[in-house]
Amino acid sequence: MHAKARTSSQGSGLGVAIGPAIIAKPDLHLNAYEPGDRAKERRRLDKVLAKADKQLRKLAAQPVRANAAIFGAQRELLHDRRITDAAFELVDSGEPATTSWTQAVERHRPWLQGLPDAPGQLELADSVEHRILALLTGTPTEFETTEPGILVVPVLDPGMAVTLDPKVVLGIVTIGGGPTGHGVIIARSRGIPIFAAAGADVSGVEEDDIIAFIARGERRIAVNPEADELAEFERTLAALEELQAEAQAHAHEPAYTSDGTLIEIYANVLAEADAGDMVAKGADGWVIRTEILFGGSPHPPTVEEQEQAFLRLGRTLGNKRMIVRTWDIGGDKTVPFLPLDQEENPFLGVRGLRVFRNRPELLIDQVEAVCRAARFTPLSLMFPMVTTVEELDWALGLLDDVVGRVGRPDSLQVGIMVEVPAAALRARLMTQKLDFVSIGTNDLTQYTTAAERGNAALHVLADPLDPAVLRLIRLVADESRRETLVAICGDANTDPDVAALFVGLGVRELTPGAPAVPMVKARLRTSSLAELTTLADRALACTDAHEVRELIRSKFR
Ligand code: PEP
Ligand code: MG
Repeated sequence: MHAKARTSSQGSGLGVAIGPAIIAKPDLHLNAYEPGDRAKERRRLDKVLAKADKQLRKLAAQPVRANAAIFGAQRELLHDRRITDAAFELVDSGEPATTSWTQAVERHRPWLQGLPDAPGQLELADSVEHRILALLTGTPTEFETTEPGILVVPVLDPGMAVTLDPKVVLGIVTIGGGPTGHGVIIARSRGIPIFAAAGADVSGVEEDDIIAFIARGERRIAVNPEADELAEFERTLAALEELQAEAQAHAHEPAYTSDGTLIEIYANVLAEADAGDMVAKGADGWVIRTEILFGGSPHPPTVEEQEQAFLRLGRTLGNKRMIVRTWDIGGDKTVPFLPLDQEENPFLGVRGLRVFRNRPELLIDQVEAVCRAARFTPLSLMFPMVTTVEELDWALGLLDDVVGRVGRPDSLQVGIMVEVPAAALRARLMTQKLDFVSIGTNDLTQYTTAAERGNAALHVLADPLDPAVLRLIRLVADESRRETLVAICGDANTDPDVAALFVGLGVRELTPGAPAVPMVKARLRTSSLAELTTLADRALACTDAHEVRELIRSKFR
C-alpha cells in the first residue's frame, strides 16, 4: 500500500500537484465481454445508445461554450444512420454488440476522412466509439470528476482542456503531446498544473495511484512515491502555497521592480465561464484568444454577438484593457465554422492571419466588433502569425477600412504577435507602425527550433529558454527602442522566474495564466531591473536551455 497523500489545492496554478490518479480512458477489457444471443445484443446496443445520448446531452449543457459544439457533434455521429444501421445489421448477423459497433464506425471512417475537418471528425468518432464500448463493457465513461484527483490522459486536446473543472482536476499528466500544445496551455491558463509528455514515467499507472509532480523549474514526477519522497513533494507544495497566499494579499497592486519600473501583468482569459473567478487574481489587463472563446460556436459569430461578448467580458473583468487577438485558426486549432484545406504541415501552413488573405470576411467582422465594443471598454487589437511587413500593411489596411465605416474609438490600440522568427528579425520595420508587439514564445520556440510544439518526442528541443529564442526576444526589445511596448504572451511566462528573465531581456508586459499573476508580480517586486538585465545577459551567453534554467533557479532560490 502506498503512502497516503494530502492533495494539492484547486486550480492552484503552481505547477505542482499531488493526488490520486484519475485515468481518463481506462482500458476497455473487450476480451472479457460476454455476448448474449442476437436479441440480447440488440437490446444492449439499443440501451447503450440511449444512455450515451443522455450523457452527451448532459455534457453539452455544461456552462462552457465549447462543450455544446463538441458534444453536440458527438451526438450527431451517435445518431448517424449510416453507423447505427450498419451496427444493428451486424448484430442481427450474429456479431456481438461490441465488434458490431467498432466495425460500423470503421466502415464510416473513409467518409469522415474526406471531410474538410477530417482530423476533428475522426477524433469525435474515436470518442463516440470509446463511449459506446465503455458502456457495453461497464467501464467508466467520463473521468466523472466528483472526487478531486490528477487526470492522466494520452494527449490533451483544446476541446477537452476547456471543459475541465479546475476545482476537481487538481493536475493533469499527459502521456504524449508537448508542453506547449494548445490543450496544455489552455489547461495551464486555467490554473491546472500540468505535467506534459510524461511517457514511460507513468507507464502502468492505475486509478487511485498517488501521483505527485513538479512541472516548473525542475521536472519531477512520481507514481506512488515512498513516504520520504512524498513528504518532499508535500513540503514543496506547502512552501509554494504559503508564498502564493502572501502574493495574493498584494495581487491587485501594480508590479514595480525594486528600482521603479512598472511591468504590467496581463492574463489569458479563454472562456466567459472562467472570467468571474479570475478577477481575484489581480491582472492589470487580459488577453483573449478569440478562436477559443468562440470556438464552440457552430456558426461564425456575428459582429453583434462578438461585440456583446467583448462587452460582457469587459464588465466581468472590471473594464480593464482587453487585448483581443484576432482569429488564430489553423495549426492544431480548428473551429467548426471555418473549414480549412488539409495540409501536410499545418503549423507551417495557412494559419493565423494567412487564413484571411483570400477570404477576409470573418476577420473584417471581428475587427468591426472590436471597434464597436472599444467605444465602451478599452480594447486592443492583436493580429497573430505576422511574417512580413506586407502582411502587416494588409491587416492595417483592413482595419483602416473598418475604421472608415464605424469610426476609430479612442481606446483602440493595435499590435501584432511576434511568433515567426522572420518577424522578430525585422521587428523594427513593424514596431514603428504599432502601439505594441507581443511575443508568442510558444510558436516562436517551435519555429526557431524546428520542433513541433505538440510533439512529445521533441519537448526537450522545443524549450522557450533556448538561448536562441532568448536572443530573438532581446532583439525585438532592442528594435522597439522603447517606443513600442514589447509584451510576452507565450506560456513560458507563467513561471515567475522565467517572467523575470523576460523582463531582463527588455519585455515590459507579461501574460501568465491568471492564477499565476500574484506570484509573477511578487517575483518582479523583489528584483531590480538592473539585476534582471544582468541575469538576462548571462542567460544569452548560456549554451542551452538547461543551463539557462539552472542559472535562473540559482538566482531565485
Ligand atoms: C504563442 O504562440 O506563444 C501564443 C501565445 O499563441 P498560441 O499559443 O495561441 O499559438
Ligand atoms: Mg501562437
